[in-house]
Amino acid sequence: MSELRFDGRVVVVTGAGGGLGKVYAQFFASRGASVVVNDLGGSRTGDGAGNHKAADIVVNEIIAAGGKAVANFDSVEDGDKIVATAIKAFGRVDIVINNAGILRDKSFSRMTDEDWDLIQRVHLRGSYKVAKAAWEHFQKQGYGRIINTSSAAGIYGNFGQANYSAAKLALHGFTQTLAREGAKKNIHCNSIAPIAASRMTETVFPPELLAHLNPSFIVPVVAYLCHESCAENGSLFELGAGFVSKLRWERSKGVVFKADASFTPGSVSKQISKIGDFSSDAQHPASIAEVDWVGLLEEAKTLKSN
Ligand code: NAD
Repeated sequence: MSELRFDGRVVVVTGAGGGLGKVYAQFFASRGASVVVNDLGGSRTGDGAGNHKAADIVVNEIIAAGGKAVANFDSVEDGDKIVATAIKAFGRVDIVINNAGILRDKSFSRMTDEDWDLIQRVHLRGSYKVAKAAWEHFQKQGYGRIINTSSAAGIYGNFGQANYSAAKLALHGFTQTLAREGAKKNIHCNSIAPIAASRMTETVFPPELLAHLNPSFIVPVVAYLCHESCAENGSLFELGAGFVSKLRWERSKGVVFKADASFTPGSVSKQISKIGDFSSDAQHPASIAEVDWVGLLEEAKTLKSN
C-alpha cells in the first residue's frame, strides 16, 4: 500500500520547537505538506519567552531536507496570528495540531491562582484560539483536521496536576463538540493522550522507560487522523511506545428509583453496588441522546416505593 501523503496541505503545529511538536512538523513536511512551526520558546513551566531559536532550528532543518516550513513565535493564546502566518505564507490552512503545553505541577493545597490560570490559558484557551481562527477557513473549503492533545492525567487524574488534568480532559469535551459541529463540512477533530520522552517527562519517568518512549512513535497515529482518507471523528486515543488504543465511555445499567418521598440517601446507599455494577448490560453511549428517558419514566411508574 502506498504511504499516506499530505501534498498541498498546510499544517499548523503549535509548540513545534521541541518534543512531540517537532517530530510532527518534520514528518508532515517530509510527506509534502507546508508547515507552520509555532513555538513561543519558553520554559517547561511557561516562564520566559522569546527564545526564537527552537522554532527557527526546526524550520531550517525542514528546509535543508527539501521541505516547506515557516516559523511563528506567538503564544497559542494569539491563535489568530498563528493561523494568519499560515495564510500569509501558504495561502490556506488544512490541519491544526494543538500540541503546545506547559506544566505547573503542585499539590492542590499549594496551587496558586496563577498556576491554575496559566495552565488553562495555554492548553485550553490556546487550543480554542487556534481552532477558532482556522475554523472559518475549514468551513469555506469543506475540509479540516484538528488534533487536540489530552493526557492520561486528565483521563484518570494524577497527583499534583489538578490544573493540568482539568484542562486536558476539557480538551476532549471540546473535541467531541467540534467533531459534531464540523462533521457536515468534512472537519474532523480527535484527541490523543500521548506518552513520550520529552523535556516535559524527563524528570517524571525513569530512564529505562524513557528509552522506549520515542516521540516519533506518536506520529503515525496523529498523521493518520489528519489524512483526508480518515473518517475518524470525535475519538480519543491513548498511545505511546508503539501501543495504540481507543477509549470510550461506559455507563452501568444503573438503578431506577421510584421518584417520590421514599427516594432518600438511604435508598441510594442500599443500591450503591448495583449502581456501580458494570458486569451486565453496561452501555457505551456515544451521544447525549443515548438515554432512553421515556423508557426509564415508564419503568419508574411500575415501581413500588423505595
Ligand atoms: P515539550 O515541553 O517538549 O513541548 C511543548 C512545546 O510547547 C515547547 O516547545 C514549548 O516551548 C511550547 N509552548 C509552551 N507554551 C507555549 C505557548 N503559549 N505558545 C506556543 N508554544 C508554547 O513537551 P511535549 O512532551 O512534547 O508535549 C507536547 C504536548 O503533549 C503537550 O500538550 C503536553 O501536555 C502533551 N502531553 C505530553 C505527554 C508526554 O508524555 N510527553 C503526555 C501527555 C500529554
